[in-house]
Amino acid sequence: MNEPTRSTSSGQAPSAAAPVARLIEEFHKLPGIGPKSAQRLTYYLLRMPPAEARALAQAILEMKEKITFCSPCQNVTDVDPCRICTDDQRDRETICVVEEPLDILALERTRAYRGLYHVLHGAISPMDGIGPEDLKVAELLGRLKSNDVHEVILATNPNLEGEATAMYLGRLLRPLGLRVTRLARGLPAGGDLEYADDVTLTRALEGRQEVGA
Ligand SMILES: [Zn+2]
Repeated sequence: MNEPTRSTSSGQAPSAAAPVARLIEEFHKLPGIGPKSAQRLTYYLLRMPPAEARALAQAILEMKEKITFCSPCQNVTDVDPCRICTDDQRDRETICVVEEPLDILALERTRAYRGLYHVLHGAISPMDGIGPEDLKVAELLGRLKSNDVHEVILATNPNLEGEATAMYLGRLLRPLGLRVTRLARGLPAGGDLEYADDVTLTRALEGRQEVGA
C-alpha cells in the first residue's frame, strides 16, 4: 500500500480507484450529503447488480430529458401545461406562490388547497446576490394580467429570505387590486414549507391574512 499523500475535499481514501473517487465527489455535491454519506452511497452502488445500477442511472437521465417547467406555473412537469394547470376542477381565481416545486407537494398533501400555483424557483436573498429578476416574478405578473385571478397567496418560507420575498411581492401586487394574503404564523420559524406537517400547513392556509399596507 502506498503512503497516503493527498486527500480530497470528500475525504475519501486516497487510494480509491479514480471512478470510485469521481462518484464520491459527485454524491458529495448533493444537498445533505457529507463526505461519509458520499462514500457509503458509492460503496453501496459498487456492490449493486449492474442492472440495478443501470436502472438508477437511466432514471436520472430520463428525468433530466423529459422534465421541463410548466409555462404558466413554472412547476416541474413532463407535460406542458402541467396537470394542475389543466385540471378544470381547480379554482382558477386563486394562485398560491411558492419558492420551490417541493412546496407544491407539501401543500397538495394537505388537500386543503384547490387553487393554482406559481413557483418562483428561489427567494430574494441579497447576501447570495439573488434579486427579483432572478425569480419567476415577471411570469407571475404576466399571469395576473391575462387571468381572472382574485387572490394571490404568498406561501414563501417563514425565514428571512421568504419574508423578504413576500414583502416585495406584496408591495408589487397590492396596487393591482387583488386580494394578497400571506400564510398565517405558526409555521416553524426559519423552517421550510416542505418540512411542515399537514395539520400545521392546513391551519396556516386557512388562517391566511391580508398583507398589510
Ligand atoms: Zn402548471
